[in-house]
Amino acid sequence: TRRWYFNKRPTRSIEDDTFELREQTLPPLAEGELLLRSIYLSMDATNRLWLGDWDLYMDPVLPGEPMKGFTLCEVVASRNSAFAVGSLAAGLAPWSDYSISDGSGLMPVPRIPGLALADAFGVLAVAGPTALVGLMEIGRPQPGATVVVTAAAGAVGMLVGQIAKIHGCKTIGIAGGPDKCAALVERFGYDHAIDYKREDVVARLRALAPDGVDVHFENVGGEMLDAGLTVMKNFGSVVICGLISTYNSTAGDRIPGPYMFRNVIMRRLRVEGFVILDYLDRYPQYQAQLAGWMLEGKLRYRLDVTDGLDNAVGALKMLYTGANNGKVLVQIGSE
Ligand code: NDP
Repeated sequence: TRRWYFNKRPTRSIEDDTFELREQTLPPLAEGELLLRSIYLSMDATNRLWLGDWDLYMDPVLPGEPMKGFTLCEVVASRNSAFAVGSLAAGLAPWSDYSISDGSGLMPVPRIPGLALADAFGVLAVAGPTALVGLMEIGRPQPGATVVVTAAAGAVGMLVGQIAKIHGCKTIGIAGGPDKCAALVERFGYDHAIDYKREDVVARLRALAPDGVDVHFENVGGEMLDAGLTVMKNFGSVVICGLISTYNSTAGDRIPGPYMFRNVIMRRLRVEGFVILDYLDRYPQYQAQLAGWMLEGKLRYRLDVTDGLDNAVGALKMLYTGANNGKVLVQIGSE
């Protein structure tokens, strides 16, 4: 099988020598193990964090180890009664054509009639549950609340805006460039879009939400978070879902902002972070809710699929430049 290894820790952006693709032979299956064929690999902003030396919410990937990611696989051989040959499973697996697992951390994946496999995996594996938990359980907006979302055209952001609309909120999405901003309003149902590359974000937020913002959903950090903190209403909520603008860094770097953290006290804000891995036991409930909305046409989404395991590194790097248009997946094998 071909397998990507984490070769050398980058200090900033992922570099040519950060990963190395190697060919290797897998051993025979032991009792309790299964052989997995990778179909889709989910590229997630957090993957860069696993390569770094900052404090993390899980064990990092160390140089010399296989790189891993959330993967949809087919079970092609099994010595584990919980996973039948021909069934689908998802979980953390190496960036690899084939891999061996003992089943721990793997979830069986049912095929959902009416939903393409890529759509179901792209929305239901990471981005959808993150959007749902982050908005509804951490942000907890009331109907009529004003919700601001950063990286709003990305995998998580495009869903947060729509879930907020389903719950009767007013939504403002912030993204980079005219195409993404047009998509926010026309495709993903945001009430308003702000192009942070061209516009004064604070001024636009003040104009669009003159009474202030109830819930700020943060995916970016730095100046975006500062802009959000500046315009919050008293007793508003700030959801720290991600801080992608800081991920290409090394422990000890002086990361910019937020400078308006003072508003946590001036405006009596509730600021709360979360990690979706802590919610895995409730995945069936979240996935049923999200799949229902998808089948009813209430949740629109866009995938950005790269073909081939050999192109995985380039696909991951798109997340940190904004080159992606939608949820980034790598198709490793046929469905
Ligand atoms: P996206 O599809 O949103 O892609 C990332 C986007 O972030 C880019 O397209 C770009 O959008 C924006 N971006 C990247 N770098 C910068 C920068 N320096 N300044 C401003 N914008 C930037 O990726 P994901 O949906 O996978 O992730 C979105 C966020 O959600 C990440 O922060 C991630 O860590 C977080 N997340 C958190 C989880 C949790 O459990 N807490 C789980 C999953 C995701 P643009 O072109 O608009 O600039």
